[in-house]
Amino acid sequence: MSKLYLLKLGEVCLKGLNRSFFEKRLKNNLKLKIRPYHSRFSHEKGRMYIEFEDAAPDSFIRRVLSTTFGIAGYSPALSCAKDFDEIRSTALELLKGETFADGKGTFKVEARRSDKSFFMNSYKLECELGGVVLETYPQMKVDVHNPQKVLYCEIRDKAYLYCSPAPGPGGLPTGTAGKGLLLLSGGIDSPVAGHMMSKRGLKLDCLYFHAYPYTSDQALQKVKDLAYLLSGYLQGTNLYVVNFTKTELWIKDHSNEEEHTLMMRACMMKVAEKIARKSESAVLVTGEALSQVASQTLESLAYTQSNTALPVLRPLIGMDKQEIIDRSVAIGTYGTSILPYDDCCVIFSPKHPLVRPDLQTEAESFRNMGIEDLLEEAGSSAEVFEFKVEDSCRTAD
Ligand code: ATP
Ligand code: MG
Repeated sequence: MSKLYLLKLGEVCLKGLNRSFFEKRLKNNLKLKIRPYHSRFSHEKGRMYIEFEDAAPDSFIRRVLSTTFGIAGYSPALSCAKDFDEIRSTALELLKGETFADGKGTFKVEARRSDKSFFMNSYKLECELGGVVLETYPQMKVDVHNPQKVLYCEIRDKAYLYCSPAPGPGGLPTGTAGKGLLLLSGGIDSPVAGHMMSKRGLKLDCLYFHAYPYTSDQALQKVKDLAYLLSGYLQGTNLYVVNFTKTELWIKDHSNEEEHTLMMRACMMKVAEKIARKSESAVLVTGEALSQVASQTLESLAYTQSNTALPVLRPLIGMDKQEIIDRSVAIGTYGTSILPYDDCCVIFSPKHPLVRPDLQTEAESFRNMGIEDLLEEAGSSAEVFEFKVEDSCRTAD
């Protein structure tokens, strides 16, 4: 016995000649996650089937399928020979499961026949299976337009039966768009930014600036916890931790108070570029949103960008805080993000930060600080913590 799951593929299906590149990556991403358990894959037009060994817990399977980008929906399924008696008894077995368990409400049957040699057409098959549901649950009613439940039957190499699929995470398989470095703070925004870019196919490592002892070990632990929570979506990740204490103290002593935050953003970009080189990342990703704080005005963002040759991707740029919070709740990082440990930015933030900085003036202030050697030291002494893909979907049971 094994557990069969059907996966519906999303945007991958819109691809043309390069479609197999995306499908192969999706399959590979799934294989890496599922490695602790034996499993078999098969694959056909817009669908993927995985047979998990029985020992694989359902909660583990759900976590794998709900965190792997490229999957539009998934459902446990049953398969049988292309013979109507077998299809009938398989349908009866499936009806005993969760979806139809209460035996009430409205339903429809949706049949598809990609094997046209099967003796019944799709309409006939729908009628026959509809009869099976009505015999089993006389209280149920057919509603073809807006049913509460759907029984699907697909005739392919075998007959496959399943009920309404759960939504998958959508997007494109992680890794198909190249690699980036996510600046991961302990806040609400940056984990959401990482999730969004990973959903577009970017493989991400993470970078955290720590200001120990001004920020606590708990603040670092919180960022590690966020990296772990993201690691399912990210297909595993490396978290680089840079000690930023000396840099921040130097900024405090060698620049004007209203420029502290801007100088810190500049230093972050420069160190991030060094780490990006180590992690072979071609872009930086941040959780900045236009006008959310002083360092996120158009002028401040332009200044931040001017400190690195790498493109800085800001997927949250046009989102308001509530939208970001909603996403953070949906991806499961919110509860950790709101734990009350100080971030390095909070500790050194000026009372009246510059909001409309002039690029040339700030570039000069930066040069006058003479901080390059310190940034070199900070970048080269980064610690790395690895979050393995095969551990990313561990569940309590
Ligand atoms: P977040 O909720 O992600 O902390 P924020 O609204 O607090 O963002 P800022 O503190 O201005 O905004 O930070 C903007 C972005 O800069 C963050 O989203 C993150 O990408 C990066 N960043 C800020 N602080 C750190 C840090 N200590 N380590 C790594 N990246 C950071
Ligand atoms: Mg923050």
